[in-house]
Amino acid sequence: QCVAVCPTGALTEMNHTWKVVEALADPTKTVIVQTAPAVRVALGEEFGNEPGSIVTGKMVSALKAIGFDHVFDTDFTADLTILEEGTELLERLENFLEGKEGPSLPILTSCCPAWVNFVESQFHELIDIPSTARSPQQMFGSVAKTYFADKLGIKREDLVVVSVMPCLAKKFEASREEFAVDGNPDVDLVMSTRELADLIKQMNIDMEELEESEFDNPLGMSTGAGVIFGTTGGVIEAAVRTAYEVRTKKPLPKIDFEELRGFDGVRVASVAMDDVVLNIGIAHGLGNAKALLTEIRDGNPRNIHAVEVMACPGGCIGGAGQPYHHGDSSILMKRQAAIYQVDKNMPIRKSHENPAIAEIYEKFLGKPLSEKAHHLLHTHYHMKDKA
Ligand code: SF4
Repeated sequence: QCVAVCPTGALTEMNHTWKVVEALADPTKTVIVQTAPAVRVALGEEFGNEPGSIVTGKMVSALKAIGFDHVFDTDFTADLTILEEGTELLERLENFLEGKEGPSLPILTSCCPAWVNFVESQFHELIDIPSTARSPQQMFGSVAKTYFADKLGIKREDLVVVSVMPCLAKKFEASREEFAVDGNPDVDLVMSTRELADLIKQMNIDMEELEESEFDNPLGMSTGAGVIFGTTGGVIEAAVRTAYEVRTKKPLPKIDFEELRGFDGVRVASVAMDDVVLNIGIAHGLGNAKALLTEIRDGNPRNIHAVEVMACPGGCIGGAGQPYHHGDSSILMKRQAAIYQVDKNMPIRKSHENPAIAEIYEKFLGKPLSEKAHHLLHTHYHMKDKA
């Protein structure tokens, strides 16, 4: 059995592939799949493509050939995360500016479960700084088993939600008890990019020969902001694209925030939003992340207002479930360039302009941070024993 190590140092790979095959063979179940942003720029490497090859359309076709009833995109709920987390950022910014009590700033992005786990066990003093927004994987599971199950007219127990993730910590995240209703998890099964590649090979699906397909709707429509979640700096850039326009009520002069991009382990950049200058800290890799959070805990001398942390080098493009890169950073750089290329190719590049997101708020959630949104899309954190 293949055992791979996760950046938390505590989690090992648990292969769910056989359970996925069993679910697909069960005629009483509707089985849907979501694919994370970083998978599409790495899966091709398992089939002999150059690092940085973008295989989104073939990946969707392969998932349809495997037998999934609907093939959806985690980028859709990355956009949803931005609406929730971006609104939370703006609320906390106003609190901070007005000197109000309660969680203010800095705010910490919360979509990396390995890092959340680390904060819960190592930084008890900072347990209230992560955004309460669930990760895109978990938001997907939550809306799939409510909004989408209702649309299909089926019970949540008859819908099986499978994730394809670059990440091993996502398997642990899906099993957290706060992400289940009466014991039925929002996300049932999680496969890594490598496990998906193995399944495609075992089923004799010829990736080269496949035509390209589009994701299904309504949980498959996304923007460029959703896809950049796949690399370090991307989550905060996506949040800034939305927060800037919501706060200033003006269109962004330039969509690409080059100052938030790159590969330095710790980066700090400032973004002016009219009267306020937002200082943003970004770290990837656990050592760098720990150093940045220690600085914030010990007085925050650089006055950082928002922090993005990804436990893996390069962010999710370098996740432990991706094809092995054997420490070759040029491979990560090619995957990162591919992520920005996918973003550039998208007709819509800001989460708040995604019409499918507007529709889910109009028909189901109300507005960002509504009571229903809080119930389905947010979470809370626990202090754990220090290891
Ligand atoms: Fe998973 Fe991405 Fe965090 Fe790595 S950086 S642990 S792949 S969520």
